Amino acid sequence: MGLNYTINCRHCGHHTELHTTTNRRTMHIAGERLADHVDTECAIRCPICRSRLNNTEADFRAQVTIRLEA
Ligand SMILES: [Zn+2]
Repeated sequence: MGLNYTINCRHCGHHTELHTTTNRRTMHIAGERLADHVDTECAIRCPICRSRLNNTEADFRAQVTIRLEA
């Protein structure tokens, strides 16, 4: 199981998808409230320009989509 991050960077325009295998805590959050989950404590960065995508909840929602992969 894992999470797919779809990233649309506003800074450089790069579109990419990242896949992460998840730990228990993340899976718990993802399973319970995936749609509401916004992690602004751990920086999510564009792999191209390193611009931080989740400075705020609004930035996160505008640039990052998380899908749970079974
Ligand atoms: Zn970028």
